Amino acid sequence: MIDNKTFDVIIIGGSYAGLAAGMALGRASKKTLIIDNGNPCNKQTPYSHNFLTNDGKSPSEITSIANHQVSNYDTVHFLNETAIDVVKSMNGFNVRVTDGESFETTNLIFATGIKDLLPPIKVFLNVGVFLFCTALIAMATKFEM
Ligand SMILES: Cc1cc2nc3c(=O)[nH]c(=O)nc-3n(C[C@H](O)[C@H](O)[C@H](O)COP(=O)(O)OP(=O)(O)OC[C@H]3O[C@@H](n4cnc5c(N)ncnc54)[C@H](O)[C@@H]3O)c2cc1C
Repeated sequence: MIDNKTFDVIIIGGSYAGLAAGMALGRASKKTLIIDNGNPCNKQTPYSHNFLTNDGKSPSEITSIANHQVSNYDTVHFLNETAIDVVKSMNGFNVRVTDGESFETTNLIFATGIKDLLPPIKVFLNVGVFLFCTALIAMATKFEM
């Protein structure tokens, strides 16, 4: 439960993009709320690759370090919830979450990620997914040996 429900910025999505925005806003002393429901696109991935300073770390490990660093800025608040509704209000936006609580903000950032949607081409779906996954597994195996 968060007492004062008015923020300078609300960020919906608290994975890498949302946390990066949260850190910049924390450094600028903006009163910020990060709402996240813990479902990042890479959650099934065991290790990160090609990510400078984080090569080989698990996505959750990277998130936990980022969470720790962002939480050092005391104007940034975290809420483990799902944002279900946003409406325009007099001074900005009103954001409602699943448990019924709502929050006011002047500025809103959507950092909800993207969904990878393959084109609906049968050959591409069958062969493309197979080749893509095989290449990823091969790369991962090579570097972990
Ligand atoms: C299988 C896979 C493997 C990858 N491997 C690598 C790699 O090895 N190296 C690399 O550099 N990159 C990798 N990536 C890419 C990297 O994971 C993404 O670029 C990065 O996660 C994108 O971050 P994001 O914050 O934009 O989105 P996401 O990480 O998807 O985060 C979006 C967040 O928003 C939250 N959210 C969404 N809607 C709501 C809502 N309504 N209310 C509250 N919260 C909400 C979700 O729970 C989630 O936490 C990989 C991606 C995938 C899918």
